[in-house]
Amino acid sequence: MEFKQSELLKSLPKQFFASLVQKVGSYTEKGADVINLGQGNPDQPTPEHIVEKLKIAAENPVNHKYSPFRGLSSLKQAAAAFYKREYGVDLDPEEEIAILFGGKAGLVEIPQCLLNPGDTILVPDPGYPDYWSGVELARAKMVKMPLREENDFLPNYTELSPEELAEAKLMFLNYPNNPTGAIADKEFFDQTIELAQKNEICVVHDFAYGAIGFDGKRPYSFLQSKGAKEVGIEIYTLSKTYNMAGWRVGFAAGNKSVIAAINLLQDHMYVSLFGAVQEAAAEALLGPQQCVSGLNNLYESRRNVLIEGLTNIGWRVTAPKGSFFAWLKVPEQFTSVEFADFLLEKAHIAVAPGIGFGEYGEGYVRVGLLTSEERLREAVNRIKSLEIFKKNIDNDL
Ligand code: PLP
Repeated sequence: MEFKQSELLKSLPKQFFASLVQKVGSYTEKGADVINLGQGNPDQPTPEHIVEKLKIAAENPVNHKYSPFRGLSSLKQAAAAFYKREYGVDLDPEEEIAILFGGKAGLVEIPQCLLNPGDTILVPDPGYPDYWSGVELARAKMVKMPLREENDFLPNYTELSPEELAEAKLMFLNYPNNPTGAIADKEFFDQTIELAQKNEICVVHDFAYGAIGFDGKRPYSFLQSKGAKEVGIEIYTLSKTYNMAGWRVGFAAGNKSVIAAINLLQDHMYVSLFGAVQEAAAEALLGPQQCVSGLNNLYESRRNVLIEGLTNIGWRVTAPKGSFFAWLKVPEQFTSVEFADFLLEKAHIAVAPGIGFGEYGEGYVRVGLLTSEERLREAVNRIKSLEIFKKNIDNDL
């Protein structure tokens, strides 16, 4: 017997990038040496001291039982201490922090925590596609906020109509930004808080790439802006900062009523994470932090190799300011999908077509900095041999 899927499940957005994985697979199966710059999976291992903590904690029988609902107090205290140390932000560990099964789980849950069917949520376009899944699961209405290059990939709030602002109950933001690599400054968050206060909008700032900022500029936390806790929360994940993507651990921090709503939903859905993972996460947040600056330097050198290399072969690109992605304009004769297909077919390089991140992503491809400098140089050489950007160099001469 085959059982039918619920209408809710059928309404979920199609996973655009599943087809990219398939396409890449069809080349690697044939033995092609594909340089995969299309995904967002950190390539470095979790720092040793965190893994060691997990090993010890895994042997402790306390962690073989159900861990406390809502997570270990020690992890919540570690998260609060982390925010105080890194951003000077005070958080109450029990009331202003909720432990999450990774940032994605929190981001997908939040619309269900705060919205009723038909309520409006403001979502950046281009943006992380999992936001759309949360919107659909809550049966909410999505209003896109275009992120344009001429506005440094920040939303221009004056483009929202008075009706949209009046109806909006939730807003997602994400800086350093996936996919554009843009960052936000204090003024932008101050402006956002003012708008949110005036229109009673809850702001959810996704700070997944909080640890990755270039050119000496440290990414700014939304919670550093005055009044942030009044109007929203920040989602922090250990996936990128500590190369712990497989561990599934993160937390939400900020507004008490939102934290209470997340905790309530999670009480119904899960117990909490494996206690040993939580202990290791606390070690990550409180232990030595050289691994974080080392990782930032690694991504910055890779970015420089890629951007300098592409500029030298005539591709006019802008360097990302944060995150581990570069957002590159495709040549005019191609759509983003056509160009990604072209690079895969002709150069065995996989990149993510911008349209997969929303309609305003058209005209760009996203390139990950998640492979060695040597492979990035090789990618540049392969693109050079296609000679599509050569005319730019000739024109410049
Ligand atoms: N937010 C953004 C913008 C991301 O790119 C990702 C992961 O790629 C996440 C959130 C979720 O990260 P995780 O679920 O591993 O915490």
